[in-house]
Amino acid sequence: MARPLSSIPAVATSNSEVEVDCGHCGAGYVLPADRTSFACMSCGTSSYFHSCPACDVAQCHAQSIPIGTLRCGACGIELPTGRWHMYPAPADALDPARTRILPGLPLDPAQRLVRGFVTASSVPGLFPLTPCHLVFAASWVVLSVAAGEALRVRYSDVSSLQIGGAGTRSYSTNAGIRGGGFGLTGALEGMAVASLINAATSRTTTVHDTTLSLRAGPWAILMNADLYEPSILRVMLSPAYHRIEQAAAHRQPQPPAPRAGWYPDPQGSAAQRYWDGAKWTEHHPE
Ligand SMILES: [Zn+2]
Ligand SMILES: [Zn+2]
Repeated sequence: MARPLSSIPAVATSNSEVEVDCGHCGAGYVLPADRTSFACMSCGTSSYFHSCPACDVAQCHAQSIPIGTLRCGACGIELPTGRWHMYPAPADALDPARTRILPGLPLDPAQRLVRGFVTASSVPGLFPLTPCHLVFAASWVVLSVAAGEALRVRYSDVSSLQIGGAGTRSYSTNAGIRGGGFGLTGALEGMAVASLINAATSRTTTVHDTTLSLRAGPWAILMNADLYEPSILRVMLSPAYHRIEQAAAHRQPQPPAPRAGWYPDPQGSAAQRYWDGAKWTEHHPE
């Protein structure tokens, strides 16, 4: 029987445990090797481990909505979700190189991942519309693209992290025809025809709009993160905000440079000495 997640210690794993990151939000978990699924406590997404019905390669599928189809990461076949659920796989059948988002870094329950694509960037070689992953790991903020790591900065270098966009909105449009006609009968007929035309041409358009901007030293990245609602992303990224605030609080304040002028002798004599802004130069003539 699987243990509840809350009883699983997030420590170094033995052979009977497997380290897995949530594919939706990036939170790290240690799972018993025989588990075939887990629910992320951070974002609520359920992840299922399956063996591909076609090629038998074990893989993890994160699902926020349990309908539709899922694609095999190995052979590319796309099958209904229900078909995949007939082939559960234990966690230790997964490729260890693929269960972690950043395999070299320590497992971290407070790690967060934002998936999307680059809208604009000051990082050389990072072009608009490039799919990217922004990972807020324990000590680093890492931006990855298909070709590999594009940027790695420390939390103390992050000067701002902002979430924007209007979120998901739906618009309904139609031909906008109003009824009319001569006399009462004509008007009623006209209105009936108009409503038929409007019903036939009615369209609902759904627009997703979530943006994330990161500034760190000379680097700035604006990315589109439409998989997440802005309000949910703000809560999801609270561990990342906490780490940025902690790093800022521990940053060494730079002492203000004393202005050039005459000061008491730092050696302790009764004479005054002149500070030119960089070094002590001369004694005040008595
Ligand atoms: Zn999650
Ligand atoms: Zn396959």
